[in-house]
Amino acid sequence: MKRLAAGLMLTAILTATPAHAADRVDRITAALRQSPVFVDPDVSYLLDARDRTALSKQIAAAGVPIYLVAVPLLSDDESAGSGDYLAYLLHRRLGRNGIYMIADQRGSLEWDSYQVPRDDELDYALMASDKPLPKKLHDVIDAFAHSPAGKPSNPLTPRPPVSPAGQKDGVTGRFVSAFFPSLLASGLVLTVLWFVYRCVRALLLAVRSRRPATLGPRRLRRTARAELVRLARAIGSAAGDNPGFTRAMADYDAAKLLHDEKTDPGSVFGVVVLALDGQDALRHETADPPARCMANPLHGTAERSVRTVLAGLAQAKRPLCAVCVRDGHRRPLTLEIDGQRRPYYQAPGLWEKIRGRPRDLPERVLEYLGVE
Ligand SMILES: [Zn+2]
Repeated sequence: MKRLAAGLMLTAILTATPAHAADRVDRITAALRQSPVFVDPDVSYLLDARDRTALSKQIAAAGVPIYLVAVPLLSDDESAGSGDYLAYLLHRRLGRNGIYMIADQRGSLEWDSYQVPRDDELDYALMASDKPLPKKLHDVIDAFAHSPAGKPSNPLTPRPPVSPAGQKDGVTGRFVSAFFPSLLASGLVLTVLWFVYRCVRALLLAVRSRRPATLGPRRLRRTARAELVRLARAIGSAAGDNPGFTRAMADYDAAKLLHDEKTDPGSVFGVVVLALDGQDALRHETADPPARCMANPLHGTAERSVRTVLAGLAQAKRPLCAVCVRDGHRRPLTLEIDGQRRPYYQAPGLWEKIRGRPRDLPERVLEYLGVE
């Protein structure tokens, strides 16, 4: 049964992925084997020949492997608009460790470092700066060339892409929408596809819930930085009349202050939760975004509140994601605090103050920081 489901899922994913998707990753990796700088002809305006030569030289002298890719990132391509996801695909296909820098058609920059023995905690301002792309790339490569030694690691495996066309269910949603017309042909086909849809959804949810349940200091900082940049970017591309805009801005301001003023694990995780809250506000177009899974906010938004016991907390109704609603374990996300793992909501400082309840989060954080 399991094998059947997995087989069906593979078929579903393969058929739902645009045919050119694999081609592009192949095309880019083939080019990267020849040169560390790849610029898609569609975005050739980003870097002229002189920029490319200068950047290639700079990369060759950087002392760490760097791959620079400038491509359009669109919601309906294999990256679903996410540079992180494209970097993940490229690293997998190319099979080489290094820093993968992805610039999109707007000149926005993301990077991920795969097993590079350097500290990759660059200032997130480098990524979000308004400088022209060649200058920004130069600065980031320079920062890597001079960054201190660090333990090689991999980034978090990025979430499977969620495209607006595929609505909330990413590949699953795309699958259903791509195949919907043909579903009408037969009731039997409908039943089978519904079954496949449920399997894929269950598998995707299960994969999502298997994300690491502990964030060490390094990964925690990196996650905070990445989510803050994601929020900044989401704000940048949001429509001004999005009802979630004000909340997202409040989240961003509070997260930025918290990020600049505090370095304890609870506060850094506060930055993550604020940044996710702001992204939720924009995505759901609401000033009052849905609660995140209380066991682990990285699971996603809560499906409903369930009476439950979470480690270290009294029994009460808690918002939980779909997997945690069904799953009996409900292990909370832990942070490394003074050498011990503790549920994030028991981190001293911010979380002690707000007692794990993220309602009115930006206001509570400003209150915690003593900002009027
Ligand atoms: Zn959960």
